[in-house]
Amino acid sequence: MSTTLLHPARRKFLLDSLAIAASIPAFYHPISASADNAAVSNSNVRFLLRNDADYLKHRQIFNKRITAMPKIIAVCANEKGVQEAILYARQANLPVAVKSGGHSFEGFSTNDGGLMIDLSGMNMPRYDQASKVLTVQPGAKLENVYGFLNMHGRLLPAGSCASVGAGGLTLGGGYGFFARQYGLTCDHLQRVRLVDGKGNLLDSKDDPELLWACKGGGNGNFGIITEMEFKTQPAPATFSGYRYKYRNLTPEAATQLAERWFGLMKTLPNTCYSAWVLNGKQLTVLLTDTNPTPTAELKIILAKLKTGASDIMTPRQDQFLTGIQRYRGGTEPMYFKNVSAGYYNGFNDLKALLPAICKKIAAPKMTTLLQINTLGGAINNPALESTAAYPHRKFGFLGELQTYYDKPTQTKDAEQVVREIQGMFAAGGIKAHYRNYPDVEIKAWETAYYGANYPRLQALKRKLDPDNVIRHPQSVRV
Ligand SMILES: Cc1cc2nc3c(=O)[nH]c(=O)nc-3n(C[C@H](O)[C@H](O)[C@H](O)COP(=O)(O)OP(=O)(O)OC[C@H]3O[C@@H](n4cnc5c(N)ncnc54)[C@H](O)[C@@H]3O)c2cc1C
Repeated sequence: MSTTLLHPARRKFLLDSLAIAASIPAFYHPISASADNAAVSNSNVRFLLRNDADYLKHRQIFNKRITAMPKIIAVCANEKGVQEAILYARQANLPVAVKSGGHSFEGFSTNDGGLMIDLSGMNMPRYDQASKVLTVQPGAKLENVYGFLNMHGRLLPAGSCASVGAGGLTLGGGYGFFARQYGLTCDHLQRVRLVDGKGNLLDSKDDPELLWACKGGGNGNFGIITEMEFKTQPAPATFSGYRYKYRNLTPEAATQLAERWFGLMKTLPNTCYSAWVLNGKQLTVLLTDTNPTPTAELKIILAKLKTGASDIMTPRQDQFLTGIQRYRGGTEPMYFKNVSAGYYNGFNDLKALLPAICKKIAAPKMTTLLQINTLGGAINNPALESTAAYPHRKFGFLGELQTYYDKPTQTKDAEQVVREIQGMFAAGGIKAHYRNYPDVEIKAWETAYYGANYPRLQALKRKLDPDNVIRHPQSVRV
């Protein structure tokens, strides 16, 4: 039965209550369920059941491996809709998951048998010329944020993938091509609005603890972010890319190239980002720069990367937006099991582990990649430590383990490959992980993601969502 078809009497009642609701702020308690406890749609929120025509479209998240089916999806048009959805979930005793861009590796934006709050329609950006501040709703996709701000000559440093949501990315940290130059996405966050687990609408200008928590510790933990305000940076004029491939590598050769890359990254200018990506027996080193001309330090690094390369891409320089669009990635959902492979200070953290891990990655069972990304630079600013829940600033590198496949029957194999390699990292002492690259199998995920900040996040959880309405397998516990 469609929840969007209303009896005329109910429609009139709803319109009446909407007219009232329009004038009532934060703490109103609208009626969002009928007498038989069925959710009632209105212009703030559309409730979809499994047999509704649009259900599957809204249920879909980026990772096809995740097959969870919420009992009901609340497609929200505005903050009031989010409040109504939370109040309905409380009344119906349903756990709540929240989806902005739907890119959670582990599907933490959905659940089986609960209520999914879908914010994909809440995606509007606004820019204030005078203050250079961007206000954006969480469902905005990164490519739209980049494109919108570029029209004003501005930039919000964020990730590279076009279809990732601004909501999830920011709340877990957010790094990419520009993080060494300007800091994390969450370092640019200066205000949030949030509907908490009780249905109250809060503003971080009245509660600095909320802003602190949303800078790296806010993914589906204690409320639904409905709006974010960011300071912005000048958009670079150009974006340059360099790429080197090294083929048919033995595990030992791949390890040696890792040692060289880690060494070269010590002098990497902060305008640059680099990734070391091992795919089977092939290594790709990617390097990008927002500086229009390479510095002397960068020229030395580029020259050294040529040694041993089997394929060197002609360096490419584009106008800024065109340049980053080259790295926008696929936008169609796919099957994958990707996880954080940990934070590292440098090569020494991996020296003893890499030969065996490279050997495992070279085994042809499944497309498996280890990608190591540069951090450091402006991320590692001690002055920012007390401003954000993000706890891993001192690490210079972040690893990501990725497996991609075509059929659901390969899921178990993919999970097994990742489990085995992740076990090697864990046995080698790699303990800190990126919250935005979750792995449901990480033990002690509380400290792995949040370090010493976990108890402080728990205190906020107890205040904003004491009944644990908003939850997923690795949400902050009450
Ligand atoms: C292809 C791909 C490329 C990526 N590239 C990068 C990258 O370059 N840099 C980087 O840092 N990360 C990257 N990531 C990781 C990405 O940052 C996380 O997956 C992020 O959480 C996705 O946000 P989302 O809104 O798209 O996802 P969702 O699945 O909608 O949400 C992710 C998490 O955030 C929570 N959440 C979402 N919206 C809200 C909200 N409004 N209020 C409260 N909680 C909310 C959810 O509960 C969930 O736990 C990438 C991921 C993928 C799949």
